[in-house]
Amino acid sequence: MLIGGRLVEATGGRTYPVLNPATGAEIGSAPDAGPADLEAAIAAARQAFDGSTWPIDVELRVRCLRELHQALVDAGPAMRALTTAEVGAPVFLTTGPQYDVPVQALSWTIDLAEKYSWETDLGEATMMGLRSRRRLRREATGVVAAITPWNFPNQITLAKIGPALAAGNTVVLKPAPDTPWLACELGRLVAERTGLPPGVLNVVTPRDNATAAGLVTDPRVDQISFTGSTATGRAIMAAAAPSLKRVFLELGGKSAAIVLDDADLRSAVGAAAFAVCVHAGQGCALTTRLLVPRESYDQAVEIAAATMAGLPPSDPTDPGTVCGPVISAAQRDRVLGYLGLARAEGGRFAAGGGTDETKDGGFWIRPTVIAGLDNSARVAREEIFGPVLTVIGHDGDDDAVAIANDSEYGLSGSVDGSPERAAAVAARIRTGTIAVNGGLWYHPDAPFGGYKQSGIGREMGLAGFEEYLETKLVAESVPRRRS
Ligand code: ADP
Repeated sequence: MLIGGRLVEATGGRTYPVLNPATGAEIGSAPDAGPADLEAAIAAARQAFDGSTWPIDVELRVRCLRELHQALVDAGPAMRALTTAEVGAPVFLTTGPQYDVPVQALSWTIDLAEKYSWETDLGEATMMGLRSRRRLRREATGVVAAITPWNFPNQITLAKIGPALAAGNTVVLKPAPDTPWLACELGRLVAERTGLPPGVLNVVTPRDNATAAGLVTDPRVDQISFTGSTATGRAIMAAAAPSLKRVFLELGGKSAAIVLDDADLRSAVGAAAFAVCVHAGQGCALTTRLLVPRESYDQAVEIAAATMAGLPPSDPTDPGTVCGPVISAAQRDRVLGYLGLARAEGGRFAAGGGTDETKDGGFWIRPTVIAGLDNSARVAREEIFGPVLTVIGHDGDDDAVAIANDSEYGLSGSVDGSPERAAAVAARIRTGTIAVNGGLWYHPDAPFGGYKQSGIGREMGLAGFEEYLETKLVAESVPRRRS
């Protein structure tokens, strides 16, 4: 772990195993941080914020973060391989959102910090006879606790620590216990390859969530930046309330892919079925509900099933693999639980429906199409986080909009149809991102986040940078001119 500028083991030398999800084999161990380690990391971050020039020295930050960016680029081959080994991420994704794109996005964020207007002149104004000149300053929030999940660890970690550090904050990073190594390696690169002052970035890897919870209640932490499940997001927001921390939350989704009756059914349905197989469906923004015109329902189910038949769960180190393993035995069992529920609620599987019996080790779910249920089924309402697509019929544009919005979530979605109609439908969907006719919303300058219970705030882009800034208004009195 990285605490106060030093690479350290956990107090007492405690460790826990790290597994390769494609084999189930132990590939090593990670330090199991205890409360004393968290305490040390928070103290180091606090001291670095209060006692160093980091928060006010943009040049220093830009220089150190460029060193980190270069270190991440140089370590690319090793980090990509580790991402596949630890996360089970298909290798093709590691040159995209699983590694290369977030590293590019860090560079984009550094450029933004370099040219950012930290101060704006609001001009003079007179109020109650007093004339003042006002300046608007943007300043770092303070100590940020970044708590990340296991599905896209590099993407989510860098989308938090990049802007948080570039904005002048200090950070305690706590990765998910299923994927601690990538964060530890990031800490190692910071310690060995950059001039980041001690305590500016700390990495702690407790196995236990109860230990991690200390980050959320500690009064020395000013802001929580969390990505994970909606249930944990709720718990974190409640736990952060007594100390009134700023809370950024990027949570779950149950996004809808809407196919209108004038869309190319084959390509739209094929793309939706493909999308939920990517990384075994372990993405919060994936469109896991497919809404198709009722008259084309059977045909759509057939197309989705045929697409998935061509995407069997496979070795993630194979460049041709789209659907790798799920992260853990617990996650596999959770998905199987939902598949049991789909059957119990009267659904049928047009493809998949269980684990892959041909595999010796590892955690696998066959891409699954659930048919025969409507939007009230639990598999249509709850996030499954597996390669599972629920196909639902709609009766036209208004009905499709109503079904898509009938969700506690509001993260993402897609619409396919003639351009004008698709754009009109997209405008009515209550989500933070939406793709129209295959458009891609993912880019370093594009804010990402959710409406409703999918979160609070935005990650990436200018909005994702300003999440980590406070606003200070400075008013100086203007002496009256003698007449
Ligand atoms: P998932 O259900 O995807 O495993 P969670 O939303 O529970 O994910 O976890 C996402 C991240 O939040 C992980 O790093 C996890 O260890 C951490 N976490 C879970 N519960 C808490 C908590 N009560 N306080 C702080 N962090 C937590």
